[in-house]
Amino acid sequence: MRVPSIREIRTGGRTVFLRADLNVPVENGVVMDESRIIATLPTLRHVLDQGSPVVLASHLGRPRGAPDQKYTMAPVAEKLSEILEDYEVLFIDRTIGPRVEAMAMGLCPGQVLVIENLRFHPGEEKNDREFALDLAKLAHIYVNDAFGTCHREHASTAGVPAAMGGGYTGLLVEKELEAFGRMVAHPRKPFTVLMGGAKVSDKVAMIAHVLPKLDNLLIGGAMAFTFIRSRGVATGRSLVEEDRIETAGEIMRAAEKAGVNLVLPVDFVCSQSPDGPPVTVPWDRIPEDMAGYDIGPESVELFRDVLMKSGTIVWNGPMGLFEVEPFDAATREIALILGDATSGGAITIVGGGDSLRAVTEAGALEKVTHASTGGGASLELLQGNELPALGHIAVKGLRPLMGANWKMNGTRQGALDFLDDMMLGNSMHFGADVVLFPPFTLIGGLSAAAEDAGVRLGGQDIHWEPGGAFTGEVSPGMLLEAGCSWFLAGHSERRHIFGETDAVVARKLQAGIAAGLKGILCVGETLAQRESGNTAIVVGKQVEAALHGISGADPSNLVVAYEPVWAIGTGKNATPEEAQKMHVFIRERIGVILGKDFAEEVRIIYGGSVTPGNSGGILSQPDVNGALVGGASLGSESFLDILASL
Ligand code: PEP
Repeated sequence: MRVPSIREIRTGGRTVFLRADLNVPVENGVVMDESRIIATLPTLRHVLDQGSPVVLASHLGRPRGAPDQKYTMAPVAEKLSEILEDYEVLFIDRTIGPRVEAMAMGLCPGQVLVIENLRFHPGEEKNDREFALDLAKLAHIYVNDAFGTCHREHASTAGVPAAMGGGYTGLLVEKELEAFGRMVAHPRKPFTVLMGGAKVSDKVAMIAHVLPKLDNLLIGGAMAFTFIRSRGVATGRSLVEEDRIETAGEIMRAAEKAGVNLVLPVDFVCSQSPDGPPVTVPWDRIPEDMAGYDIGPESVELFRDVLMKSGTIVWNGPMGLFEVEPFDAATREIALILGDATSGGAITIVGGGDSLRAVTEAGALEKVTHASTGGGASLELLQGNELPALGHIAVKGLRPLMGANWKMNGTRQGALDFLDDMMLGNSMHFGADVVLFPPFTLIGGLSAAAEDAGVRLGGQDIHWEPGGAFTGEVSPGMLLEAGCSWFLAGHSERRHIFGETDAVVARKLQAGIAAGLKGILCVGETLAQRESGNTAIVVGKQVEAALHGISGADPSNLVVAYEPVWAIGTGKNATPEEAQKMHVFIRERIGVILGKDFAEEVRIIYGGSVTPGNSGGILSQPDVNGALVGGASLGSESFLDILASL
């Protein structure tokens, strides 16, 4: 399921219906914790900065389908107005109806209209069609940034996008999907999951789903006792899910079979009751009259050891009775360790209320890679399920990538004009990643204009060393600093004019990706190789040489461009059928090297004399996921025409 992000369009002054999760605690009409309001600001500002007014909608509490002043959105609007100083925040005490429509349609750029609590209307939780249609009348574009409710199909999360013909995710949902989708599906190794909390039953589906990818599974919290009991060891009066002892045993056996290092605590902090004096005992000596309320210091050290060596860490659930001192100690310590692991280069993802609180209170919130805002929704993703609400904004196929390779052409002014034209063109929404590859000397001066135009910048080449005596070369870090997110490796002109070998191309591709850039690997056969029937051998070898042993690649940072050398800059090109056949072949080769799932998500784009005249046929092929355009990208008009054929 591919869900387009708000980043993919220019809203161009059109009114946006933003479904956010502003379910904040309110006491006596005052917002007590504004974190959820803050979490939605990036999307709000992103839209407002483009000159689009916003109709902002959320639920608050559980008013059960009828107005209840305890749950009015008025204090939220007031708080937002304080925070969003440079914009005007209006509030209307209803959700739908002629007055709301008149106000929404009369909004000016820079204005936000907060409508009343969606759950004041009985149609919200029932996903009532009439209610959804009335909400849909309020705006032109639908954006869902309410990650915490994406696992529910309510009118505002399902009916409205259905009525509006689709929509986009906000930046918060995009970030959550990235964390639980890409980072977990293609984790940096070793991959460690740290589970806590009381119940095995809550986490079984998730453990089963992630187990095949895992290197380490650390189990803390009360659920550890159920695991210990499955080994036939007594746990005193500690909390045990009797009916899950067998399940815990099965998980242990499955982990062993999969070669996963499953680590249980080796000591516990126990007591006769949560307010009794604590004693620390080994895991197999819990006194009969005591219960374990936290994992002990030796266990924390054991976990630290594994966590500090991990490449990706997902943490969900506290290590002990977090709300009662001193049984909060291990959870707090783990929060600090996660901060340290992140500083050491690990990707760290934290979910669940208590873990999040621990990370916040330990001052590590800013440090972790991602702190999730939605417990239920994040668990769904970790179990490998899709979020039902997002099905209503999903689109088919891979997101096309359209590259404009300017080679040794262009001026600064020409590039700025091109980006200006792209800004206008992009507001028509081509639903593609558009990347401009200008000469190196222009890149630095284009960042702001590219950002405005929704266009990414890329280097036409890269060197694998981070710096040093390599006259004429540009390192990955330099490209990043200049504002690039992409680079080309192995363009046919590099291979054939400058003699780059497969080995050189592989080093470049691997260094660029390892540095955090996204790479386009160019492959293709010469006319002689084609005529001697060697196309598959040559291209297969190029793919193999570049991708074998690559680390850190995932389908979002790797694209392969099939560019038959005889077609580049010659006016000749492969027929759509020939391109399709080669793309299928390349996908198969990628599958052999990096796995079938990976290959299905990798974009394979075509390059070689693509023009407005032939782009339609080529781009309509199912395995052609975009194009790399040279000559025809030098003029914005022809490039926009090519984009329009998507
Ligand atoms: C290219 O440079 O990658 C390319 C495909 O060029 P052209 O479109 O001019 O053939």
